Amino acid sequence: MKILVINCGSSSIKYQFYSLDESRILAKGIVEKIGMKGSFLKHEKESGQKVLFEGEILDHKIGIEYILGILSSAKHGCIASLDEINAVGHRVVHGGEEFSESVLITEEVIQTLEKFIELAPLHNPPNLKGIYAIKALIPDIPQVAVFDTAFHHTMPQHAFMYAIPYALYKKYGIRRYGFHGTSHRYVSNRACEILGVDPKTVKVITCHLGNGASACAVKYGESVDTSMGFTPLEGLIMGTRSGDIDMGAVSYIMDKEKIGTKSASVLFNKHSGLLGITGISSDSREIYAGAEKGDERCKLAIKMFDYRIKKYIGAYAAAMGGVDVLVFTGGIGENSATTRVGICEELGFLGIEIDKQINKESRGAEQIISKEGAKVKVMVVPTNEELMIAIDTQNIVYDKN
Ligand code: AMP
Repeated sequence: MKILVINCGSSSIKYQFYSLDESRILAKGIVEKIGMKGSFLKHEKESGQKVLFEGEILDHKIGIEYILGILSSAKHGCIASLDEINAVGHRVVHGGEEFSESVLITEEVIQTLEKFIELAPLHNPPNLKGIYAIKALIPDIPQVAVFDTAFHHTMPQHAFMYAIPYALYKKYGIRRYGFHGTSHRYVSNRACEILGVDPKTVKVITCHLGNGASACAVKYGESVDTSMGFTPLEGLIMGTRSGDIDMGAVSYIMDKEKIGTKSASVLFNKHSGLLGITGISSDSREIYAGAEKGDERCKLAIKMFDYRIKKYIGAYAAAMGGVDVLVFTGGIGENSATTRVGICEELGFLGIEIDKQINKESRGAEQIISKEGAKVKVMVVPTNEELMIAIDTQNIVYDKN
């Protein structure tokens, strides 16, 4: 079965084309700068050969036309005709309270997703554009939506509620939803697979540390708490997002700076986090470079980033009554040995002890990095959300047939 996985952002479309039965990625790529000057498609063949197409990609539909065009082109493609695509799986950020798992996309599902635009105004509209484009261009091919929120549906109410008037939860759905769910699901399951243990028997904490960052408590295979909330702004310190902050400080800043909700949202989502503290960059590599040169704010940002994660690990160990496995993933989690040390230092009391040498050598590959005999298995597991989306899509479409 050949499955096209699509991840539509506001001005980009990432794609991967799988032949799952053969465990092959036939092609992958990205369309960038949609609707802007200098838009292009970067395509990578299975052989690793890369092709660049520049063109006027005015909207997501044209972007997807480019992708379908190259997949089926005689020169650079990997299929003779679009009929060879059996299904399309989409990453959809917000599934609200409605979707606890991936679903086949029907008219009814689309209507519900339209309703959720209010909950995720930045993310769900481009996701929907991708769905509409496929529907228009290859209407007979089944489509599946895989939600970032779905894995967290198992959170108990006491973990997902905010302590605000209950009526606001009922009226507007104000609660914690959590995000990065596909990643937390993948890495927690994969970690158990590598260890040869049944996920239903262990307590896992997963730390997805990239530009966006979140932690998740996975007890016996189910998410029971996660650090992102009503939006992906809550929780850990991120590249440009503040993470947890006192609401009192937010309203104070808005008053003092005379800014409205839109500007405040930009301030806390785009100008805060590592970028806000360092004033230099949101990229951890540049911040580590700055710290090495002695930049005090880079050193501070690193300490704050690690400390916030350490606190969440402690909190989730308490929430689950223990921890057996700690997993690092995402660009920083997979690649930065220094960050992993910074986080795990002083967590020996929980049984978290990393082997410094193995950790140092571990970069971007699956690896157990805890000390031999340590109580908690600490692991690096590169995330693979696209593969999860492809597998869910295959399962749902096969089930239907
Ligand atoms: P992601 O959003 O998962 O792509 O992760 C992006 C973050 O990962 C950025 O802060 C990068 O600086 C960081 N990152 C990527 N590669 C490395 C690396 N080799 N070492 C340290 N950090 C990295």
